[in-house]
Amino acid sequence: MNQPDKRMKPENNQELMQRDLAVLWHPCTQMKDHESYPLIPIKNGNGVWLHDFDGNRYIDAISSWWVNIFGHANPTINAALSEQASQLEHVIFAGFSHEPGIRLAERLVAMTPDKLNRVFYGDNGSSAVEIALKMSFHYWKNQGKPKKTQFVNLVNSYHGETFGALAVGDVALYKETYEPLLMTCRTVESPDCFYREEQESWEQYSLRKLDSMRCELEKHHETIAAVVIEPLIQCAGNMRMYHPVYLRQLRKLCDEFDVHLIADEIAVGFGRTGTMFGCEQAEISPDFLCVGKGLTAGYLPLSAVLTTQSVYDAFYDDYETLRAFLHSHSYTGNPLACGVALATLDMFESENTIVENQTTAKFMGEAFAHLNDHPHVAEVRQTGMVLAAEMVSDKKNRIPYPWQERRGLKVYQHGLKNECLLRPIGNVVYLMPPYVIDREQINHLAKIATEGIELATR
Ligand code: PMP
Repeated sequence: MNQPDKRMKPENNQELMQRDLAVLWHPCTQMKDHESYPLIPIKNGNGVWLHDFDGNRYIDAISSWWVNIFGHANPTINAALSEQASQLEHVIFAGFSHEPGIRLAERLVAMTPDKLNRVFYGDNGSSAVEIALKMSFHYWKNQGKPKKTQFVNLVNSYHGETFGALAVGDVALYKETYEPLLMTCRTVESPDCFYREEQESWEQYSLRKLDSMRCELEKHHETIAAVVIEPLIQCAGNMRMYHPVYLRQLRKLCDEFDVHLIADEIAVGFGRTGTMFGCEQAEISPDFLCVGKGLTAGYLPLSAVLTTQSVYDAFYDDYETLRAFLHSHSYTGNPLACGVALATLDMFESENTIVENQTTAKFMGEAFAHLNDHPHVAEVRQTGMVLAAEMVSDKKNRIPYPWQERRGLKVYQHGLKNECLLRPIGNVVYLMPPYVIDREQINHLAKIATEGIELATR
């Protein structure tokens, strides 16, 4: 057997790519693609920039799968991480606790909508969704309503890749293969404003789409535990967006029909939508709020589910009643991740991030507005710090290009040749950058994205 090369003295992209492809299997990747498209090993990061081993650099326009907030290798967060590492790297979180975990929970409770005052940690977004689903079902069971076993989701929603999270999602590309293994869900129409009539406002359309939800809840509320939703943006579902009025009305419906509302803010939380949390724009408090990704500014895997006192109370009893929530992950509440999350929240305050982002978001909108006139761009849409341009074969009728043509890949490749990491989802070119991005970098992304779209739609 060949001995692995322990030197780890990488000379260049090519050498590292070969070693990688000999032993690794990457996420969300048809590995055969790498026969044609290079894999890019990254040596280091700095602010919005990623540097490879051949001396090329790339603006991380997608925040490395929507996690990065304050740039790569941020000195303030680095210092917090190293300080925490010198104190405590990890400790079992059952029967034991630690200060960063406690302080973070206190701050999350203080900064999220009113009724959320209990925090349960997970270690990635999908597990946060699993936790919320299990808690909701288990709450009803503890309340003597064991028939409430079903979940309602939206067309084109996404909540992660583990079985429960996949089951409450609706993106066929990820879900279809595993369908026989998944629990069934009640899927209702999405308020996604891409499909609104020409003269219809976002608000009117999103409101109109509530009918399908109302109908489902009216008919089946006795067997429904919760509605699961991504507030304001269906990110993995092509960055489709909707009006906050939908959330506001949905909260009322959930109350009316005694059904939980699970807000999955794993992708949109921590400022992506323009407010700290998307739910704020609808002035609602969900029964469960799932957060992850930006919680640690893109440093470490950590997620949290916030819930209400009344949910917590339904589990609080003598041990022998077996009403406890026994879910656990080895790295629950990892202190390094909590320490980094605390530094992240400090930075939101010291940098006045939410307010500063208003200017950045406005600039992003202006820099990309010209694409609205492109004959093969159906629309440029934006919610806060997320902007998307959707390529179509027929603009008037909004007919998509067949997915097999992989037009987005052409934009991706053009980006890589020009210092940009743009990673379209299907035909949708989007920006979800670290908040430290500057005007020159946004202008560069706009220029390269426009050229890329031009090439891809020829
Ligand atoms: N929910 C939403 C809305 C997401 O966008 C994602 C990830 N893209 C997840 C859940 C899953 O998070 P993770 O990848 O950390 O498991």
